[in-house]
Amino acid sequence: MTHVAYVNGRYVPQRQAVVHIEDRGYQFADAVYEVTCIWNGKPVDHAGHMARLRRSLGELRIAVPMSDAAFTAIIREVVRLNRIKNGTVYIQVGRGVAVRNHPFPTKAPKPSVVITAKHGTGPSEAIAQAGVKMIVHPDIRWGRVDIKTVGLLPNALAKQAAVEAKAFEALLVQADGVVTEASSSNAWLVTKDKTIVTHPSTHKILSGITRATVMKLAQKAGYTVQERTFTLDDVYAAKEVFLSGTTTFVLPVVQVDERIIANGAPGEITLALRKAYLNYVNGLDDTAWAV
Ligand code: PMP
Repeated sequence: MTHVAYVNGRYVPQRQAVVHIEDRGYQFADAVYEVTCIWNGKPVDHAGHMARLRRSLGELRIAVPMSDAAFTAIIREVVRLNRIKNGTVYIQVGRGVAVRNHPFPTKAPKPSVVITAKHGTGPSEAIAQAGVKMIVHPDIRWGRVDIKTVGLLPNALAKQAAVEAKAFEALLVQADGVVTEASSSNAWLVTKDKTIVTHPSTHKILSGITRATVMKLAQKAGYTVQERTFTLDDVYAAKEVFLSGTTTFVLPVVQVDERIIANGAPGEITLALRKAYLNYVNGLDDTAWAV
């Protein structure tokens, strides 16, 4: 089937879709993006992704190109044209096209907008039930990773290192020993006293939309959640370790480098949270498109 992309006002076959060679997204990574999950045809946390997109644009002073309602209409059309039942939508908004020069163009160009969709989401249920392996990797990213820019080379290098080590993800660690997150997901641990811990929502992590939902579900289920920094030693000593993200949902981690986490099987709190998250996405209806 031909994939259809939305590119600057037009729906085009993806193979024919092109962007300008002087697009600042291409030259300076001067663009932001979102990836949202479509589950049973419904968007997961659509309003949250739209809000984060607006925030990222605001942080970079890129004009918001259209209303949330207009974005939603286009996303729905891309989902329909590509017949996505379970999949992802990619939304990229950049500062636009200008003669290459570092500062913002004096006259703001029209923001570039590209929206595409893909079938399929993250790891299978069988993989999730078995748990995944991670490697430890230095966090060499810039100081504003809370802005969801397309400048993902350090993330891509970390993920490549994970793939080469036959691991699912790379756990990013700063020079001071603090674990921030993973290359494309947020990292969590469960302590021996069953407290759920994740890095605070600062400039050092991407504040995941899934992270926020998991936090709410965990609190609703009666767990204590702490947003605080933790180290690799805390990870090795943890009762459970897991990841969260738009495509990974809640994913148990059973190994970090050569260290087996807990007894090498997914933890019960992690599996309970995964189940709660699956219940949540399975319960979505058309009101999920509201913004
Ligand atoms: N951290 C990073 C670096 C990511 O790329 C992602 C995926 N977008 C996440 C965390 C998880 O965020 P979300 O739950 O919004 O997908």
